[in-house]
Amino acid sequence: MNRVYNFSAGPACLPLEVLKEAAEEMCDYRGSGMSVMEMSHRSSIFQDIIDEAEADLRKLVKIPDNYKVLFLQGGASQQFAAVPMNLMKNGVADYIVTGQWAKKAAKEATKYGKVKVLASSENKVFSYIPDCSSLDIDGDADYVYICENNTIYGTKYHTLPDTKGKDLVADVSSCFLSEPTDINKYGLVFAGAQKNVGPAGVVIAVIRDDLIRDDLPEYVPTMLKYKTHADAGSLYNTPPCYGIYICGKVFKHLIKEGGLEAMKEKNEHKAGILYDFLDESKMFSNPVERGSRSLMNVTFVTGNEELDKEFVKAAAARGLVNLKGHRTVGGMRASIYNAMPLEGVESLIAFMKEFEKEHR
Ligand SMILES: *Cc1c(COP(=O)(O)O)cnc(C)c1O
Repeated sequence: MNRVYNFSAGPACLPLEVLKEAAEEMCDYRGSGMSVMEMSHRSSIFQDIIDEAEADLRKLVKIPDNYKVLFLQGGASQQFAAVPMNLMKNGVADYIVTGQWAKKAAKEATKYGKVKVLASSENKVFSYIPDCSSLDIDGDADYVYICENNTIYGTKYHTLPDTKGKDLVADVSSCFLSEPTDINKYGLVFAGAQKNVGPAGVVIAVIRDDLIRDDLPEYVPTMLKYKTHADAGSLYNTPPCYGIYICGKVFKHLIKEGGLEAMKEKNEHKAGILYDFLDESKMFSNPVERGSRSLMNVTFVTGNEELDKEFVKAAAARGLVNLKGHRTVGGMRASIYNAMPLEGVESLIAFMKEFEKEHR
C-alpha cells in the first residue's frame, strides 16, 4: 500500500483507520454474510447503522433535542434550492456573499423569492469575510444565509453575523466537525459529506423542529421537503446507505480521538504552522486577510503562474497531491481537513522550503 498525502478539497482524505475497518467488513458485515452496500435499507441491521450514526453525531456535536438530523442526497448544491423552498414564508431572504458557493446559493434562491445581498467580498476576490456586526437586515427576511467556510478562497467566519433575531442558515460543508459548534445559534446547517466527514453522496442537515413545515407551496417536490425526511427518519426512500455507514465510522473515530475540542486543537496547530511558514516565506504567500483565514483550506501563491504549476507538479512527484488551487482562482490550495495528519502538513512545509531554496 502506498498512501499519499492528499490535499484535495473534496472528495477528500478520510481516516485510514476508518478505511481499513470498512475494508475488513466489506464482504461480510458483522456476520450478516453481505456487504452494507448489498443490504436492505429496511433491515434491522441497517436501522442500527443509521441510528448509531445519528446518536454518535448528536453526542459529538451536542445537538439539542429540538433539532432534527437528516441524512440527505443531492449534494450541498441541492440545498441551495431546498433552503428557500422550505424556509421562505414571507418570500424574502438575506444572503452574505463570500464566494462562489454563497453566490450560487443566492442566485438559486431568487427563483423562489426576493433575495437581498447584505454584504459581499467579491470586490477583493473573496479574500476576506465582511464585517457582519451591523447588517441592514430586512424586517421580513425569513433567514440570513452564510457559507461559513469558503472552500475555494480559504476564508472562514470567525464571528457569526448578528442576524438581529432572524434564523441563521449556514452551509458548513467544508468546516463541519472541524471544531465545536453551538447549534443553537443556527436554524439550519447543512454539509456535503465529501469535504470533512465522509464519502460524496451524503448531505447532513441539522434543522430546528419549528422550521420543518408542512404548509409549503404545491410546487415543492416531495423529496425536497425537510418534513418528508424528518418524518421518515431519513428513510423515506433508499438513502445513501453505504455513505451513511462510513460517516458513522468517522463519527466514532472522532469521538475516540477526543471529540471536537481535540479536533480544533489539532486543526489550529496544523493550520498555524502552515500560515506561519507562509508569513515568513519570501516566495509563497497567503492571499487572505489575516482575520478571515480558514483552518481547513489554506490557499497560497508564488506570484508567478508558471512557478505555481511547477510547484504543484513537483509536489505531486513527492506524494503531496491535489495542491492545485480551484480552477477559478489558480495558485495552490492545501485542504487540511480532520483526516490530514500533522505529518502531512509538516511534509508539505518541508517541501515548500526546499522548493523555495532551489528556485530563489
Ligand atoms: C463543495 C461545496 C459545495 C458543493 O457541494 P456539492 O456536494 O458538490 O453540491 C457547496 N458548498 C461548499 C462550502 C462546498 O465546499
